Amino acid sequence: MALFGKPKYTIVRVKKKDMPEGLWTKCEECCETLYNKTLEENFKVCPKCNYHFVLGSYERIHTIIDAGTFEESDKDMISVDPLDFKGPKTYKDKLNQDREATQLKDAVITGEGLINKKAVVIAVTDSRFIMGSMGSVVGEKITRAIEAATKKKLPVIIISGSGGGARMYEGIYSLMQMSKTCAALAYHRKSKLPYISILTNPTMAGIMASFAGVGDIIIAEPKALIGFTGPRVIEQTIRQKLPHGFQRSEFLLEHGLIDMIVQRKEMKDSLSKLLDYLS
Ligand SMILES: [Zn+2]
Repeated sequence: MALFGKPKYTIVRVKKKDMPEGLWTKCEECCETLYNKTLEENFKVCPKCNYHFVLGSYERIHTIIDAGTFEESDKDMISVDPLDFKGPKTYKDKLNQDREATQLKDAVITGEGLINKKAVVIAVTDSRFIMGSMGSVVGEKITRAIEAATKKKLPVIIISGSGGGARMYEGIYSLMQMSKTCAALAYHRKSKLPYISILTNPTMAGIMASFAGVGDIIIAEPKALIGFTGPRVIEQTIRQKLPHGFQRSEFLLEHGLIDMIVQRKEMKDSLSKLLDYLS
């Protein structure tokens, strides 16, 4: 028998382009190719580098609220187009396009549910819908959720994932939502009820400058971009180089803007402990 005879097996090299679509995702941070099922089981966090992928608002609620207890409120509320906005795309076109892409009616989901059997009111913005920006629907739904919590004497949890801030397609109507949501939170606070704000990547501009920035406790996910104006505009304005990691969760924790950084898979248990402590 020849020493180097024909092997009894065949080596098949699978090129990445031959892999079936929808099974794998490439990590945006470390470029590792991840099996989607593994990624789902790990709460959409890269097991190699801890990069937190974007979570849709329903997925987010699923990771935090006890199964089968979430009751959504105001789910059919939709935006009008008060300015009859026309740009490269009209506001109506943009709304239709994002509704189709996300199957959401607007950029926030609100409702009531249980966290380890403790009742809370929760609102979650969705960065996939016009960058999670706050127009009159987002503002109104969040305000109604906070008012419901005040009435029922429940804690409020708002999870922000909003790079867009106030939604300029609605002009002054969107800016008004900043004070409206904060006024509702002030009444909630007067009743000595807790409000926990959770900041995810990204939380910027009019969202951070209103309800997201005024939590009794402010939690962030690791490495989330959090701030008002983007770093490039700040650098151009102050004509100075910004420090490393500026506007990231870790930098903001060190400088006292946020209270804790919590990994996504530990978020539910951390909230549960905080609710025990605050009630
Ligand atoms: Zn990674």
